[in-house]
Amino acid sequence: MIDLFGADRPTLENYFLELEDKPFRAVQLVKWIHQRGEYDFAKMSDFPKTLRTQLSNDEIFQLPQIEKVVIDYDGVVKWLFRLHDDNIIETVFIPENNRGTLCISSQVGCYLDCRFCATALQGFNRNLASAEIIAQVWLARQQLSEISATEEWKNKRWNDLPLSSKVTNVVLMGMGEPLLNVKQVMPAVRLMLDDNAYGLSKRKVTISTAGIAPMMSSLPQECEASLALSLHSAIDSVRDILVPLNKKYDIKTLMSACWDYIKAHNHRRHILFEYVMLKGVNDDDKHVRALIRLLGDFPAKINLIPFNPYPKLPYQCSSMKTIHRFQDQLKKRDINTTIRKTRGNQIQAACGQLSGEVQDRTNRLTRLKTIEFA
Ligand code: SAH
Repeated sequence: MIDLFGADRPTLENYFLELEDKPFRAVQLVKWIHQRGEYDFAKMSDFPKTLRTQLSNDEIFQLPQIEKVVIDYDGVVKWLFRLHDDNIIETVFIPENNRGTLCISSQVGCYLDCRFCATALQGFNRNLASAEIIAQVWLARQQLSEISATEEWKNKRWNDLPLSSKVTNVVLMGMGEPLLNVKQVMPAVRLMLDDNAYGLSKRKVTISTAGIAPMMSSLPQECEASLALSLHSAIDSVRDILVPLNKKYDIKTLMSACWDYIKAHNHRRHILFEYVMLKGVNDDDKHVRALIRLLGDFPAKINLIPFNPYPKLPYQCSSMKTIHRFQDQLKKRDINTTIRKTRGNQIQAACGQLSGEVQDRTNRLTRLKTIEFA
């Protein structure tokens, strides 16, 4: 018994060898499921009938159900997926004109307790299986082909141009801490990067971590994905409060792990540092200076994230004036710094607003006719 849906190619090659079949079946199966989107083994016409039956008997994965789909005015799509054990996870698609970013979850809830994040309020339930992680990409792609055929979608614009409905980028920035679920996250990421599956570029699949230092160091041995670190402060005493995990892996330890990652990639990659802007907490000159000292000679990109409010979170977003000032000071030191555009906040789909809660379980929505346009 195996999750065929979430198995990467090497795992499937072993599986077929154990069945005394050819390892190239692994490529065929990956193509059927992830490229053609066919998950009915009976329809896999280039497999012998006995093998098709064997696959059906061995597969244990149940595809998540679409509990709800909400589409924001700017085309951001949020799905609530119901898992086999009735847990609910969230996945968000953020379309621009020539790219589409899918933000996926890696755990049900989160074990960490970052003080400004809605997922933290929910606590930790369990790790997602690799099949549940890759299913978010599979389902989103299938849904987007339906959604993009609707008139409502075709009328939506971003910068006065039509929206992309293709998943070109994946970020593990949804619910959960991906580097606390490496065993299940890696096969899913390998499928995203596999040309026989989703064929995404290694620079366009990003694993975001609150700072599990040992796993950051060893990430390059596991997969080629890009790395983002949720830094939020370059001052330990402040980061200790915002990201309690900092008491275990402090900033110095994290930077050393960041250098391990860069060296393993022969200095050909950079790391994205995420920095949520919290009014009066981490947004003054003292913080900019600390950040410049920390990242001065590091191959870094900084992404300033305006804080997205959520009920019960005790913070406020810095003013746009403060955020721009913060950015200007970093840019003056040649540190590449962008400000994240807040999108999806009308439907509680923005960074840190994902909590998997379902308001109305009786109103069970499944197919396209049930999509809500906000
Ligand atoms: N556990 C991982 C991935 C999930 S969070 C991590 O910590 O990186 C994805 C990003 O959203 C992180 O940078 C996180 O700090 C940020 N985030 C969390 N809550 C937020 C909020 N309320 N407003 C803005 N960004 C938030």
